[in-house]
Amino acid sequence: MLNVELGTPYTAVSSLLETEPWGFESEDKFLNAAVRYQLRLRKGYNPEAEGLMILEICKDIEKRLGRTGKPQYDEKGERIYSDRPIDIDILLFGDNKIDCEELTVPHKLMYERDFVMIPLREIMY
Ligand code: ADP
Ligand code: MG
Repeated sequence: MLNVELGTPYTAVSSLLETEPWGFESEDKFLNAAVRYQLRLRKGYNPEAEGLMILEICKDIEKRLGRTGKPQYDEKGERIYSDRPIDIDILLFGDNKIDCEELTVPHKLMYERDFVMIPLREIMY
């Protein structure tokens, strides 16, 4: 689906890594993978605008694959994590740094999550 929406096939894909849930308890495990795309972008493109467009594509695919609702937060404002059919995050976007309300790239928590870094290393050559 990402290939269709981004208009190009991926250039690398990691193996699937099965992990225990992160930040909550559940019977279900997670399958993690990383994919890499080489996008053709206009010279002088706006990284934040392009990043937000890609984020919208990811969120739309999540919805089509059955993800519902908004992220939940507890009374202290901390994220409550739960099972979800799919989660598509933007880890890196070239060398761009994006920090706006809806999108932070590089992804804020990726360096402390092995389930992100292990697949990511497989496609970063
Ligand atoms: P998580 O990915 O932490 O499990 P969600 O998928 O529910 O949580 O994402 C919550 C919000 O995080 C999204 O609505 C999105 O606006 C924001 N967000 C910030 N940075 C990123 C990123 N790099 N990739 C994906 N979502 C991001
Ligand atoms: Mg997400």
